Amino acid sequence: TDPLVQIQNLDVSYYTKGVQAKALHNIGMEILPGERLGLVGESGCGKSTLLKTIMGVLPPNGKVNRGSIEMDGRNLIEMDEKLRRQTRWAEISMITQSALNALNPVQRIDRQIIEAIRTHQAMSKEQAAERVSELFGMVGVDPARARDYPHQFSGGMRQRAVIAMALALSPQLIIADEPTTALDVIVQDQIFSRLRQLQQDRGFAMILVTHDIALVVENCQKICVMYAGMIIEAGNTRDIIQKPRHPYTIGLINAVSVLGSVTAPIAIPGSPPNLFENLEGCRFAPRCPFASALCHQKIPEPTTLENGQKVLCHHWSKADEFSKLAKSPET
Ligand code: ATP
Ligand code: MG
Repeated sequence: TDPLVQIQNLDVSYYTKGVQAKALHNIGMEILPGERLGLVGESGCGKSTLLKTIMGVLPPNGKVNRGSIEMDGRNLIEMDEKLRRQTRWAEISMITQSALNALNPVQRIDRQIIEAIRTHQAMSKEQAAERVSELFGMVGVDPARARDYPHQFSGGMRQRAVIAMALALSPQLIIADEPTTALDVIVQDQIFSRLRQLQQDRGFAMILVTHDIALVVENCQKICVMYAGMIIEAGNTRDIIQKPRHPYTIGLINAVSVLGSVTAPIAIPGSPPNLFENLEGCRFAPRCPFASALCHQKIPEPTTLENGQKVLCHHWSKADEFSKLAKSPET
């Protein structure tokens, strides 16, 4: 199958008072139709920047300096803004962390979704209202509540309304940026099982950003691990969980399994590099327990293994050894 979306050599920077922060560096990835892909990595590694670049909603100081995002034979990066606007919600839609920001507090929820539908599709108000009822049913909210204002909804219901909005125009790709972080675990589970069910019924592809590797294991076939603006490892979720090849991924997985808690913070010592600095060598080298002189001098080239797993590490072939060392109790 051809990929639905193909990203190549993508560089994105933010400019603050003329100073450049390289938020994304040489990102390459593809999303197949109907695939669920999890994107993980610690705070500030560029997950939201990547999603915003795909959606075409970078803030004004964010610039794509290189690379392409192809979908249906078009490069979204070079697309005229008018055409690009038509792709948002209709072809790609986004669910963010804060459902409150996505909904207008002074407008009834059904009207907001009806308007969103009618700006893209020729549909009467009645037809659109009908569609809203259908969407509410799909996400598990009583359609009779469609005329409420956002503040009358609980957090979980609001997030469901945002999901309804994201589904309204049947896009081929839904990108979700920590969609349930603000919700309690039970509501989070309910929303995820609903989202999965919808995904299976309707066949859209999904990119899920989360801090929580356990959520990715449960919900996604593929996983991309980001570090300091780069994808350092990617592949089938099961392969990566069983045989991580990058020392950062090894640490990430150990942190979860050692602490035994799905919401535990990532316990890798040190902090990510300053994105304002021009770094030489591997961006993880300063924190990597296994770094050699080479790692500090040269950025590794991506290696693709037989199972399709991609890894960006000079010493990936020693990963089994690293895994054992990382698990030893003295560390
Ligand atoms: P989190 O898990 O905390 O949401 P993230 O992985 O989504 O983090 P991004 O929000 O993409 O990270 O940020 C990547 C880098 O870009 C960070 O260093 C951040 O400080 C910087 N950044 C993000 N937005 C802007 C902006 N509007 N202007 C300048 N720098 C920004
Ligand atoms: Mg983010």
